[in-house]
Amino acid sequence: MIICPVCNTTNHHLEIICRQCGGYIQTKIENIDLFQKLWQLIENPVKAFKHIAIAKHKNYIIFLTSLFGMSFLFLLFEYINIGRIINRGVLIALAGMGGGIVFGFFFLVILTWITLGFSKLFKSPPTKFWNLFSVIAYSTVPIIYIFIFLLPIKLLTFGIILYTSNPSPVLVNASVSYISWFLEALMFAWFIFLFNTASRVVFEFNFFKAITMTLALLLSLVVGIVIVINYISSSIISSH
Ligand SMILES: [Zn+2]
Repeated sequence: MIICPVCNTTNHHLEIICRQCGGYIQTKIENIDLFQKLWQLIENPVKAFKHIAIAKHKNYIIFLTSLFGMSFLFLLFEYINIGRIINRGVLIALAGMGGGIVFGFFFLVILTWITLGFSKLFKSPPTKFWNLFSVIAYSTVPIIYIFIFLLPIKLLTFGIILYTSNPSPVLVNASVSYISWFLEALMFAWFIFLFNTASRVVFEFNFFKAITMTLALLLSLVVGIVIVINYISSSIISSH
């Protein structure tokens, strides 16, 4: 909450203009500078998310959403060994890129809805969907780094084996396998940390409340995803 210095009205903490007198209650931010924000997510994530949430134009959101979708989809392809059904690398690449754009958008829309639902259980102040969507999109940056920096190395090392597990990538190059698992786990942990920070900023939660909500949400999400993936994998296996 922000108290207006002019008329003493209590305003939502992400408002720029006082709802009573129309005076400025905090610095207006027009645009989001992508590279500045990427750095700020490391240096001062609270400040980064605050700026993203109050920025008038949510720049690069669709771009980040698409890259996140591609990154996540290529990881899913590895997990379900998609090479067993699609045996041409080009087709897997096209499916990941094209599907990723759609998948990323739907995944983050659903994640934002679920987060809004959970935040109500934890008694958050009213929150705009688009504000929450934009901070969540920026919190997926670590997952995007997997796609940009790690996937090319894995593809150069393993080629199509990455998606067939025949033979297992560990047998081809154990060190690249273990290092990429470690880095992927690290990036997921960083994503969870950023997501938690984003929810603290948007919902004005303290650390304890935010981490409780994040863990509850994460648990339901992981259980949901595992059920869906296993359902898809088993139907693929039974159809072959
Ligand atoms: Zn005022």
